[in-house]
Amino acid sequence: MPVKVVSEGPTASKQVTCSKCTYKLEYTGEDVQTSSGYSMGEHDVSFYIVCPRCGANTSVPAWSLREGRSWY
Ligand SMILES: [Zn+2]
Repeated sequence: MPVKVVSEGPTASKQVTCSKCTYKLEYTGEDVQTSSGYSMGEHDVSFYIVCPRCGANTSVPAWSLREGRSWY
C-alpha cells in the first residue's frame, strides 16, 4: 500500500522576519523559492521567500521540503 498524503502541504514550518516590513512570516518548504547565479566564479543557489504583505524577498536558510531533503 503506497504512502498516503493526508495534509494539504508540509506541516513543518519555520518563521522568519521580513527584511523589509519586519513582519514575522511563517513558511514551509513549498514556499521557498530558489534563484541560481554565479558569485566569485562559483555556482551559487540562494533561497528566499516572497513576503505576502510587501512583496519583498527575504533570504532563508537552504531548506526545501519540496525537494524532500535538508542541507543543514
Ligand atoms: Zn514584508
